[in-house]
Amino acid sequence: MQPELVALLAVQEDDAVIRGIESELAALSPRIASLDKARQRAHDELERSRVAIERETERYKTLNDRITDHREKHERNLATLEQARKVREATAAMAQVEMARRVLAEEESELSGMARRLGEMTSAQEAHRAAAATLEEEQATARAEIAAEQERLNAQLSEARGVRNEKAKQVSAGLLSRYDRISTRRRSNALFAIRGLTCGACDTAIPLQRRNALMVAGLIDVCEACGVLLFASPEPPAPAVAPADAPAE
Ligand SMILES: [Zn+2]
Repeated sequence: MQPELVALLAVQEDDAVIRGIESELAALSPRIASLDKARQRAHDELERSRVAIERETERYKTLNDRITDHREKHERNLATLEQARKVREATAAMAQVEMARRVLAEEESELSGMARRLGEMTSAQEAHRAAAATLEEEQATARAEIAAEQERLNAQLSEARGVRNEKAKQVSAGLLSRYDRISTRRRSNALFAIRGLTCGACDTAIPLQRRNALMVAGLIDVCEACGVLLFASPEPPAPAVAPADAPAE
């Protein structure tokens, strides 16, 4: 077998190892993605409660300001009532006082409802925050494991690539680039030995003339059916058979 073919077969073996490491690395991605997703959910939950609290606090402040304003008005109404001399004035002032008192009572009850709600929302936010912290702790272990695994595989990968590229130097640039193109497209082996009279990859019969070129000249040729590179492995040497009927001496 030609030394170049031997070298390319060795490169192909290394490439299979490299693809194996690459797929192990790729298999880590969904694990990272699912950790990221869980973390994102926890953060979103916290953010939602932060926004809700902010909005509720704003409403609380607005109502509180309005109540302060209404209390002042109420005080003024009371003063007017005290100073009323005539019955008609007193009656009108009293009506004002009564109405303002009712409004104030309603508003104050609404405000205390809001305060209670804000308290509940803050507790919920604390719970979300604690859950996010717990999640982060749990994830730290998993993430460290994945990172260590990635580091290990990346080291393996760069070593395997180094070895492969060293071997590839023994293959001519033209053949190597044809091999690389086919191997990349198939995400698998690109170089196959013919099997009897057919392609080792797709089993299509190889025309006689091409077969001769492969077998006699030891060329590397492309399968017309599936596009892989073909070569003929040398015939195993015929076993030496001792003549059975040799006369005994
Ligand atoms: Zn084929």
